[in-house]
Amino acid sequence: MRAIAVAVPVPGLGSLTYAVPEGVPDPVVGARVLVPLGKRTLTGIVVGETHADRSPDREPADAEVKPLLSVLDATPFLPADVVELAAWVAEYYACGPGEAMATAMPPRAWIESERHAAITEAGEARLLAERGVRREALELLSGGRVASVAALTKKAKGVGTVLSGLEAEGLITLTTPLRGAADASRSVRVAMLTAQGAEPLDADAIKLGPRQTQALDLLRGAPDGLSVSDLANEDIPAESLARLAKLGLLTIERRRLERDPFEAVPARSVGLRAVDLTAEQQAAVHTLTSRAAAGAYHVALLHGVTGSGKTEIYLRIARAVRESGKGVLLMVPEIALTPAAAAIFRAAFGERVAIQHSGLSDGERYDQWQRIRRGDVDVVVGTRSAVFTPLANIGLIVVDEEHDGSYKQEESPRYHGRDVAVVRGRAAGALVVLGSATPSLESYHNAQNGRYELIALAKRVLDRPMAEVKIVDMREQYAAEGPEVILSAPLRDALAARFERQEQAIVLLNRRGFATVVFCRQCGETLECPNCSVTLTVHKAAGRARCHYCNFARPLPKTCGKCAGPYLEQLGFGTERVESEVRALLPRARVGRVDRDTIRRRGAIASLLASFANKDIDILVGTQMIAKGHDFPRVTLVGVISADVGLGLADFRAAERTFQLLTQVAGRAGRGEIAGEAVVQTLYPTHYSIRHACRQDYAAFYEDELRFRQAMRYPPAVALINVILKARTRHDAMEDAAVVAAAMRLPGFGAWKVLGPAPAPLGRLKGEHRAQLFIKGTQRTAMRKALLTVLDARPELKRRTVVDVDPMTVL
Ligand code: ADP
Ligand code: ZN
Repeated sequence: MRAIAVAVPVPGLGSLTYAVPEGVPDPVVGARVLVPLGKRTLTGIVVGETHADRSPDREPADAEVKPLLSVLDATPFLPADVVELAAWVAEYYACGPGEAMATAMPPRAWIESERHAAITEAGEARLLAERGVRREALELLSGGRVASVAALTKKAKGVGTVLSGLEAEGLITLTTPLRGAADASRSVRVAMLTAQGAEPLDADAIKLGPRQTQALDLLRGAPDGLSVSDLANEDIPAESLARLAKLGLLTIERRRLERDPFEAVPARSVGLRAVDLTAEQQAAVHTLTSRAAAGAYHVALLHGVTGSGKTEIYLRIARAVRESGKGVLLMVPEIALTPAAAAIFRAAFGERVAIQHSGLSDGERYDQWQRIRRGDVDVVVGTRSAVFTPLANIGLIVVDEEHDGSYKQEESPRYHGRDVAVVRGRAAGALVVLGSATPSLESYHNAQNGRYELIALAKRVLDRPMAEVKIVDMREQYAAEGPEVILSAPLRDALAARFERQEQAIVLLNRRGFATVVFCRQCGETLECPNCSVTLTVHKAAGRARCHYCNFARPLPKTCGKCAGPYLEQLGFGTERVESEVRALLPRARVGRVDRDTIRRRGAIASLLASFANKDIDILVGTQMIAKGHDFPRVTLVGVISADVGLGLADFRAAERTFQLLTQVAGRAGRGEIAGEAVVQTLYPTHYSIRHACRQDYAAFYEDELRFRQAMRYPPAVALINVILKARTRHDAMEDAAVVAAAMRLPGFGAWKVLGPAPAPLGRLKGEHRAQLFIKGTQRTAMRKALLTVLDARPELKRRTVVDVDPMTVL
């Protein structure tokens, strides 16, 4: 029998063996195949041959090996090196190979069968006579809606168990259509008001729910309509739109998408102006181009202070590599937030650039992927998942802002784009350049111990000085002005002075919303999320209290839910409050705000940043989004409201993240001709992450932080695996975690340390209780293998376990 190994996108599942039927040629590695799995038909990727000559007791008998159903590609759909890379990811990050392959695939490349349910006439007739879950199921399908079983079970627990009964009684039908297609269409569903919908409504004749009213309001401001997914981002469910469509107030149509995927990337005047490199830049370009020309694997850490002109260096090496006939991959944390590098590459390489990031529509992503796969481009700019790009013959991989947390995927596969980039570079024999003003401890450690080459840029271009940083001790401010003060006197003065002189300012607070706590002065109750162990954040403009972890939202209460008292008070503050304080201080200033609440609509961030660049906004308030690699030459002041927001978190990277954020945001000031200043408000002026950030002294921070990591045995001193057990009760979660911890501690199992179990800092998240344990040691592979052995022996437990290798956050 000929057999192949196939990876299917099912969480936690290893690769599976299928027989190749007589007369079918062996499918190649990287080809897609349709295979049966239980009652389903799935698309899988061929990952290799299996050897039929293995010992008979380990190989299932021929009869048990099912034949594959069809071979979809005669040539590799995924290139062999990408298949290999994905297999490495699955192994290293302890997930199923199919999950990793799925990350490498363009959208809609899977052809998948799924059970779909639809109601029958008999079902409609019986609806009102039914009770409980059966009634719920019929209601969900009523009106001719067809829904996948998966979607139904998401909406109502237990529905999955009654469907076959309903089918047997003829109340519903269940079908398994093939979904998806080999080619993705470039279209989106767009909602548009009808003439009737655009008119003011007669509120007595038509009763609308709040979501429906909100949908109409949004659409009144959008003559070209809004996509259904944009509306979903504003919390307007498809059901509300369907109802409005039924009432004749709007229409929903499919519209072909012909957007420029670079739209989010503003073309910039600075892009292609020929500049004279500084001596430091020249030396860096010289070293790096000669490393690239050597054509062998090499990793360099480009540690350049903010404004030292790193992008220009990437560009020059990329040119050289491309001229030598090799491919270039530029990775950026988030394209809309770090537009400079993407824009410059676009301007420099034009048609030969493809772009890959999640902000594109499926169709655009698919098209870009195909262009790369066909070999029509030789430069790819993309975010995390672009590390799997099907670009051939890679000679250079640049990871810009390599310290950025968004390179780590916080769902399975929990891979780190930067680390996978290094692995890919090794396999390809390529030069890997990791660039940052604030390198991760891991990368700097690797540079210190000689695994990476360190290239430093200590000066800004054109001899511009670093911003001068002034620390404001908020304890003194509170003593002087009372505890309500948000903008300290020095910051108020600095903002007013900048506004007078028509210079621009940035104000950072890494916490969104208006207030962070709603508190009852009568009984002490606080407003908490029903699903997570956190308080709800007040969003004043939206009139809602919202959970920042699960997105649960409710209207702001007027009275306490516990004692019914009317004495509700709001404590704490976020960017929305800061914005209103700034407006109150300088009523004539034009103030903009960038945080996740203001940029939900596609393109919103780009237009806000463009307004700021055009001086249509004087003061920009925002979260860490405004701290990233933007280059606004007219910004001469950066204010940081609470520099210590992140320091209280029970996370070993808290100090590192604080240092990075402060250094990066201070680096936004003084990038033009006029020198810049930063005003940093804090309650802990002596904390080392704040002190060193204010002096922009990376080396000193690294030393202090490394000492802490070594003393506490955290990365990069050791390898760390975070294991989270999720359960319905806290007790169960702790008990399950204890089982895993005990098994990992068995004497003689290995030389690692197990810490825990303990309740996770976020003890409840999205309705699940969480307990965690840490495995620390120097042998990452052995640790991971032991953990998988422990979990594989307990499949029920494994399903509720999150394994995070090299975690970025441990909350
Ligand atoms: P970094 O990413 O290191 O913070 P950028 O690459 O954004 O810095 O460069 C900062 C600014 O300096 C950009 O506007 C860039 O065009 C400009 N620049 C880069 N190199 C030079 C140079 N040698 N001379 C003048 N301007 C330069
Ligand atoms: Zn929540």
